[in-house]
Amino acid sequence: MNNELQSALSPQHQSIDYEGEHSRHSIRDVNGKRTLIHNAPFIFTCDEYDKVQVLQNHSIIIDGDTITAVLPASTVNLDNFDIVYDAGKRGGTVLMPGFINTHAHSHMYLMRSAMMLDEGESIDETIAAMAVWQQYETEEALIFAAIGDITEQQKSGITVTLSHGPSFDAIETGTVMTGHTTINAVSAVSNSRPSNTPEMVERLFSNHAHYVSIPAVSLHYLYKTPTEALKKISNLVERHDALVTFHMAESVYVAEETVKKHGIRETALLEKYGLLNEHSLASHVLHLTTEEIHTLAKSHVGIAHLPTSNIIHKSGTFKFWDFEEAGAFPRISLGTDSVVSKNRLDLLTEAYQTRISHLYERTVKFSSLFKMLTSNGARVLRMSDRGRIAPGFKADINFWKLKDRGCIPYDQNEPMTLLGNIITHGGRTVRDLMINGRFIIKNRRHQLVDESKLLGLLQTSHMEMRKRVAGK
Ligand SMILES: [Zn+2]
Repeated sequence: MNNELQSALSPQHQSIDYEGEHSRHSIRDVNGKRTLIHNAPFIFTCDEYDKVQVLQNHSIIIDGDTITAVLPASTVNLDNFDIVYDAGKRGGTVLMPGFINTHAHSHMYLMRSAMMLDEGESIDETIAAMAVWQQYETEEALIFAAIGDITEQQKSGITVTLSHGPSFDAIETGTVMTGHTTINAVSAVSNSRPSNTPEMVERLFSNHAHYVSIPAVSLHYLYKTPTEALKKISNLVERHDALVTFHMAESVYVAEETVKKHGIRETALLEKYGLLNEHSLASHVLHLTTEEIHTLAKSHVGIAHLPTSNIIHKSGTFKFWDFEEAGAFPRISLGTDSVVSKNRLDLLTEAYQTRISHLYERTVKFSSLFKMLTSNGARVLRMSDRGRIAPGFKADINFWKLKDRGCIPYDQNEPMTLLGNIITHGGRTVRDLMINGRFIIKNRRHQLVDESKLLGLLQTSHMEMRKRVAGK
């Protein structure tokens, strides 16, 4: 399947070389290659104390997939690099760490337009409608969906994604095809797929070296998870030092169902089964008491904040300032959710949505939003070598055109105004994108997937899905 797909979607265009780039490298392999990103007018990144810094006229040296130095451009000797990217040319380029999406459902991409976002359904109704579609999914459709979903994310600067869903294989193929970094959180309990069990996830963990994506566990809803499975999963994630993710307190209904099925609320349930710790990543997390918020904060549970999804489905409001006061901010990250819950798979718009959603109380500062996009995301995914542009970190980098709407005009004496512009303007695509030291997007063109062919495939596949659902 992979080879067939790769030839069906391979780009026909010649790889575009930058001025000054010595193209002796293969896109698929950066081992042993030295790359210089030279003379960037602006680099935004958190420092080792998690403070946002702006480096001006700096260069980045990358060996293979890892950043080995970040230093003033004037001190760099330009010899002995396999690739030189001049970030000072073409009006200049703004660099940031690749954004980290801690909650996506990449297998759902073909549902775009099938369930309209804002026609008034509640989250509980949308979930019922989704279940009908899911009966007609094929493995092939899930793979196409994953490729469509991940490439859309990459265009908006996302380099790491946690995808939560039923098919490990579809997300694995989507990851291979797109050059992405994916945490492949597969359902350990599923009504529609009886083969999804904690034992199946255990096998994936044991064979992790054979996969490109990183196995993790997902539970759609805690109230639907039998206690036996909860026990097995907490044991499993502990032994494999892995991650488990679940939707939590997304609606009043879900909170009530948990009490009906388990006799206690979700926070108490997590505590009871040893899941209240840094291995857990909870998404939404809306209907909680102040005491529960403090318990989650103290336990270092990761949070995926999904403001657009919460508003569109009328699920409720995330108590941002209560979490912040409880000390949970370093573990609040951002997610796109799926195309059923958000218009575009972009985190900059989600950062801006965060800002305007919580304005009535206080303003979430641009520097805080930047952390949620980068270092907080890496923290909750337990990836200590991602989310910053610094020596020892993986070379995951966004390249934004500086001479562009949404950047200009800004105060040259106060570069944080530029970050504010980029976040509030939102909805933009990267000029280039580097993941693990290789250019996945160059000059706005994906290097591994021909977007035109992909869109054709997605449209055909979507219409076939509609026919199956309509029983034709
Ligand atoms: Zn979700």
